[in-house]
Amino acid sequence: MTTIIGVMTSGGDSPGMNAAVRAVVRRAIDRGIRVWGIFDGYEGLVQGGDHIRLLKWGDVGGILQKGGTFLGTARSDLFRTKEGRRLAALNLLKAGIEALIVIGGDGSLMGAHVLSSEWPEHVADILTNHSDLESRQENPVLKIVGLPGSIDNDLHGTDMSIGADTALNHIVRAIDNLASTAASHQRTFVVETMGRHCGYLALAASLAGGASWVLVPEEELELRWHQKMVASIEKSRQLGRPHQMIIVAEGARHADGLLISSSEIRKILSERLGIDVRVTVLGHVQRGGSPSAFDRLLATRLGVAAVDLLVNEPNRPHSHMIGLIKNRVVATPLVEVVEKSQAVRQEIENGNYGKALELRGESFRYYLDLVKTLTRITPAQERSADGAVAILTAGADAPGMNAAVSVAARCLLNHGVPVYGSRDGFYGLIRDDFVELDWHEMVSWVNRPASEIGTARFTFEESDFPKIAANISKRQIRALIAIGGLGTYLKIRQITEMRHRYDALNIPMIILPATIDNNLPCTEFSIGSDTALNNIVEAVDKIRHTAGATRRTFIVEVMGRECGFLALMGAMASGAEKAYLPEIGISLADLNRDVEIMKESFSRGKRMFIYLRNEQSSYHYTTDFICRLFEEESKGLFEVRTAILGHLQRGGIPSAFDRITASRMGAEAAFALLKAMEEEKTTVQVLGLRGRGLTIVPIEEALGEMDLKRGRPREEWFMRLLEVAETLAKQGPPECE
Ligand code: ADP
Repeated sequence: MTTIIGVMTSGGDSPGMNAAVRAVVRRAIDRGIRVWGIFDGYEGLVQGGDHIRLLKWGDVGGILQKGGTFLGTARSDLFRTKEGRRLAALNLLKAGIEALIVIGGDGSLMGAHVLSSEWPEHVADILTNHSDLESRQENPVLKIVGLPGSIDNDLHGTDMSIGADTALNHIVRAIDNLASTAASHQRTFVVETMGRHCGYLALAASLAGGASWVLVPEEELELRWHQKMVASIEKSRQLGRPHQMIIVAEGARHADGLLISSSEIRKILSERLGIDVRVTVLGHVQRGGSPSAFDRLLATRLGVAAVDLLVNEPNRPHSHMIGLIKNRVVATPLVEVVEKSQAVRQEIENGNYGKALELRGESFRYYLDLVKTLTRITPAQERSADGAVAILTAGADAPGMNAAVSVAARCLLNHGVPVYGSRDGFYGLIRDDFVELDWHEMVSWVNRPASEIGTARFTFEESDFPKIAANISKRQIRALIAIGGLGTYLKIRQITEMRHRYDALNIPMIILPATIDNNLPCTEFSIGSDTALNNIVEAVDKIRHTAGATRRTFIVEVMGRECGFLALMGAMASGAEKAYLPEIGISLADLNRDVEIMKESFSRGKRMFIYLRNEQSSYHYTTDFICRLFEEESKGLFEVRTAILGHLQRGGIPSAFDRITASRMGAEAAFALLKAMEEEKTTVQVLGLRGRGLTIVPIEEALGEMDLKRGRPREEWFMRLLEVAETLAKQGPPECE
């Protein structure tokens, strides 16, 4: 079994690397493994000496929320040589390191792979020439576990690499800001994103930010692609669209392989259209800053999984990279990761764009097609007279609802189907209050908070159903999309239960999960939950900064109703000490134990405790009660404060992840309904994101997964992470150090 490991960050830094190092170090120490931190990447490994230091539990405290990497990173030309790698091997042997965890991009993982392939040769040479070296093992091995650390998201073996989500949020925010100034001046903006060989950031930002045109390295452009772009921008201006935004990845190329620069695009547009075009090259701001909630959680899960792989599967041959595919941790042989990641790059270099696009996988192609549909100036098909689809948003609003409505509606309009927005949820259906959704108007909806078509909570009365049926007939509504939380699921079921009485209700319907609480069946993420999580994490980060030198405990109350997702994930992503969850409840014994832990830790010099309490984790042990109890029991050793985050969790601009999830779900709902209408089906289904990706299940199956009394699914995937959250938040007792 592995007892000594090394951990390092390498190549370009990416936000979340610190979270990964913290997870590796704490998980390893907790499992009885000693961890050497290798500072300054491969350069540090080659240099040895002070660059390789033992890490303790406390060394990785307070780094989770920081961007960059506290281990430092560097490019190393020495490591590219065999002699350099021999020095690295010598240093690994000196420290007795049996497994090396490398967090970095494809270059770094390639370096690790090369070192691993040469290992036996290096060992033989070193043991012959360094007779003084006391190797702890007869036959020293070196295992490698790679973690994907790259903002470009260009690695095979993971859906997302550590840092990509943060970078995407930076880009999307920049686009939002530019859009508002562009609108005031009728300006056209060219925004250049990072991604020399990968168009992920540009493509995802186009979807989440609402681009007018996108250029990525993986797409083979026509010889005269710019004529089409110019015509599209001209048309968009004539239509009076508030702004035009061209998003270009830094590696986008002409068909002949020459790079397309953003200033070239500006020149083309301003010369041919005589308009004011501004270029924004986002550069390193994309890389910097505090990691998003998603990146912190991704990095934490992968870091823990890397150590677990070494401990739980000591006999697994090969070196691996640990990634997250469809929200599951997956280990892929390092050689496969390196070869496949570099293959795309090679195909682009060789001008085989079609092959490069194919290698990127299905979802990349899907995003590209979707962005192309959404950037159209007019729908592909003429409006047909053959009935319409209605869309409604119901219950509490969730960030991302507008993206779902707008993308679903545009996908339907593109097929000639008119779309009505039902105003204020189900009220519109009852009162015949609809707004016909317009292609041009919806272009700028993607970043708007709340719901443009309105949302409301209410309860049906018996007399509502005939009205709904009459309005559906009158408006020739042939299908319905409902976007909302559990209340919406139940109301749609109520409507379908009335089908035997009102024939007009026999239309296909599809529900999209949208609630910040993430308490819905058949989906691991609901629209809005990522924004809420980021709001919580940002708030806790701020609270952390206020504590000064005092000894203080904060009880932060978060939403979630009877579901602990926001509390548990919020605690894990913000480094809070504990989450009180409705799934577990709160007992007096728990509170007693927490008081003892606080007393002990504060007297050992700890400055702050943060507990996240879900709003419904206990009926009697309220946030205020716990605060008073702790305060009383502290006997003056520490202070206790509360912060009830309330509606600030729900508000604000939707995160990139929520916009993308909502867009994908919106598109999928539209396609499913087009099919159902064509086949004259009247199914009522629920959309979700889990396991193998987007899934559609009958409403009865979805509700069958719910514990309706408690208002949460019977099985909740994130509860598997409770043990991880608890381990990493331990107080690092002396025996752990
Ligand atoms: P990233 O990991 O972000 O892609 P780089 O491509 O700069 O960053 O790689 C980081 C480091 O990994 C390099 O400075 C070098 O030391 C090492 N490395 C990259 N490619 C190789 C290779 N083919 N052989 C040996 N070492 C390599």
